Amino acid sequence: MAAVNPGFGKELKKYGAFHFNACYNCGNCTAVCSLSTEEDSFPREMLRFSVLGMKEDIKSSLKPWLCYYCGECSTHCPQTANPGELMMSLRRWLTSEYDWTKLSGLLYRSLPLTISAFILTAIVVLGFSIYEKFNLETIMHFGHNFELLAIVLVFVLILLPNIIRMWWFIILKPKIKAPLSKYFAGIWELILHMFTQKRALDCDDNRFRWFEHFILVLGYLGLLFTTVFLDWFSSEKLFIIVFGYVVSIIVFIVTIDFVSDRIKKNNEINKFSQPSDWLFVIWLFFMGITAFSVRLFIDTGLIEKNIWLYLLHLIILAQWALIIVPFGKWPHFLYRSFAMYFAKIKS
Ligand code: SF4
Ligand code: SF4
Repeated sequence: MAAVNPGFGKELKKYGAFHFNACYNCGNCTAVCSLSTEEDSFPREMLRFSVLGMKEDIKSSLKPWLCYYCGECSTHCPQTANPGELMMSLRRWLTSEYDWTKLSGLLYRSLPLTISAFILTAIVVLGFSIYEKFNLETIMHFGHNFELLAIVLVFVLILLPNIIRMWWFIILKPKIKAPLSKYFAGIWELILHMFTQKRALDCDDNRFRWFEHFILVLGYLGLLFTTVFLDWFSSEKLFIIVFGYVVSIIVFIVTIDFVSDRIKKNNEINKFSQPSDWLFVIWLFFMGITAFSVRLFIDTGLIEKNIWLYLLHLIILAQWALIIVPFGKWPHFLYRSFAMYFAKIKS
């Protein structure tokens, strides 16, 4: 029999959920959800599990990741129990459960701790710059190597083990038997969802938001590729320089729209932003705008006298790579894609 834990509600509230205890199980939310199916019916079931504190059942479920937060269920809930926000909070909670370091949970639950981690990262970068006597060439060379090293280390030490833990909770622990051929057959599903998030298109009235996400993913991956593998800041090839400008502009223009939607709270999904949501969009904006400005200052010969600009970019980059990517909202993108993969394996 599944373990029931009424105290779970309190824990979940630290991840943003609220008022979900008001749910009286009418099922309206599941009826209006365009992504809910007979086999994968949600969000009502997740509300029941949350109210009863059935942590293990939530941990072994893919349903929180199958929701793309359109907000329809919250709009139609007669009890204003906010099922859409509950699903979002469950994704935050699951992220902290998958994380073997447990740092995700600590940062999600404590804003002061998150701010301290950001400040500490900035101090380390500034300390290194002082140690290097603000030598721009050395610091830029370090910045370039840091990006590559951070990608490899964060993936190998944090994200990969966490994906394995997710697999353990979802497939191995519930003793789901799947032939190896299913793992191979599902790889296409994984790649497709990772790059397109196409399931979001099945949400009602969601096409523009999907398009914005799609070009942001392309812009972000393009910027990553250009700076890390094409060494954008040192390159003299016109194509690479122009490409870098284009992708960095995409990143900061699209994120301006995301930040402005969160400020205006003009739709259900932007009404209850948590610090992790704000940090994700704002830091993505900073990454795009500072990368763009650094390259502009290089091209106009102003960077030597404005080293502070590169230091600012490096601080933002370090905070992004060491805090937001491994422990913040960034892994949602990865877990959602793997959820589609595991769903295919389970099917
Ligand atoms: S969350 Fe709202 S709509 Fe869904 S079952 Fe509960 S009361 Fe009904
Ligand atoms: S937010 Fe949208 S996709 Fe998520 S459960 Fe509610 S209706 Fe379904």
